[in-house]
Amino acid sequence: MPAPDASSPVLGTPGTAGAVRLVLLGSGELGREVAIEAMRLGCEVVAVDRYDGAPAQQVAHRSHTIAMTDPDALRALLRSERERPCARMLVVPEIEAIATPVLEELEAEGLHVVPTARAARLTMDREGIRRLAAEELGIPTSPYRFCTTAGELRDAVAALQPASGAFVPCVVKPVMSSSGKGQSVVRRPEDADASWTYAQESGRTGASAVICEGFVDFDYEITLLTVRHAGGTTFCAPIGHTQEDGDYRESWQPQPMSDAAAARAEEIARTITDGLGGFGLFGVELFVAGDEVLFSEVSPRPHDTGMVTMASQAASEFALHVRAILGLPVPTDAAGRVPLLGPAASAVVLGDADRDAPTFAGVAAAYAVDPAVDVRLFGKPDARPGRRLGVALARGADVDEARARATTAAAAVTIGG
Ligand code: AMP
Repeated sequence: MPAPDASSPVLGTPGTAGAVRLVLLGSGELGREVAIEAMRLGCEVVAVDRYDGAPAQQVAHRSHTIAMTDPDALRALLRSERERPCARMLVVPEIEAIATPVLEELEAEGLHVVPTARAARLTMDREGIRRLAAEELGIPTSPYRFCTTAGELRDAVAALQPASGAFVPCVVKPVMSSSGKGQSVVRRPEDADASWTYAQESGRTGASAVICEGFVDFDYEITLLTVRHAGGTTFCAPIGHTQEDGDYRESWQPQPMSDAAAARAEEIARTITDGLGGFGLFGVELFVAGDEVLFSEVSPRPHDTGMVTMASQAASEFALHVRAILGLPVPTDAAGRVPLLGPAASAVVLGDADRDAPTFAGVAAAYAVDPAVDVRLFGKPDARPGRRLGVALARGADVDEARARATTAAAAVTIGG
């Protein structure tokens, strides 16, 4: 029998003084999978969200409902959790909209924030992470300007134009936003004011500054899941995806890439994740044109497009995140990457209307598409048009077959209630 490794983390029993406790800040569908993976390793899971009955709250040992942007509420909650007996407590952000100064304050008192409180702060808005990547780390990105008034946005659109040639469209996004909320494209100079107004009305926190980016005419975009763990940095195979209205619709793995583009993508992912630090899985979003790779943004946590790994990898992105943050090893193949079971795809099931307690028909038809299809329904208590309620997963002989199966299966699911 091998000798016990003194550096190997010790796991415990939920609800006891020996528990390893994860406090999830954000309890959506990604948090739910993190919770399940942590519970498989005997962790105690506490799920926090702004509304009762959020997906991860439905599976956690305990849950809390607070506004995580409220510093006092967040501080009180984390302090009270810290006072409960346990062997180790990790705070695991699942969303961006958190009072991150509280995380930094409590981290200074010894709280373990995943991956770090600084990473949570820098990625909570588009400005922190873009300035770190482009201005401090020298990573190539689209050209950009930050604007706080409609006039500044008009000037930015003009400043991002080439000296000669056709008008280059600009993508305008609230700095406090994700999933395409408040995002629009300026296709003519006179569109700038409408983009400004749209961003003000639709951002995460109401009126806010925007980033104005030059439109990148990429061949494809990828998410490169990158795991920082006790043994180093390990990459997953690149994930391709399609977006509509700034939100993901389909993802697949592996995305074919030239060797040069793949190497560049890994170099950029390593630089940005080293810049953020800590242990955990990161979703590095990149635009690829030929062999050229531009950084777009990064999540210091599992990524929605990475749900495909529930079909493509034996250890999903959620399992990898949990292993990395606990200090456990992650599986690695001979090339030093997370092994792939085979080509796979995911396709989202979106809400079609406002509905309380939605119901789902057609799940049997989705499974009938192929034995390798799987369906996940998130259990969200209400539906809205465009709200992600589930995902269909599929394997295939190649990515095209997996995508066809996943999209057919997702389309078979119909929402009622
Ligand atoms: P984001 O919320 O920044 O991830 O943007 C959502 C999606 O909008 C991206 O995945 C791209 O498909 C598209 N997008 C964002 N920024 C740009 C850009 N500068 N040029 C072209 N497409 C973009």
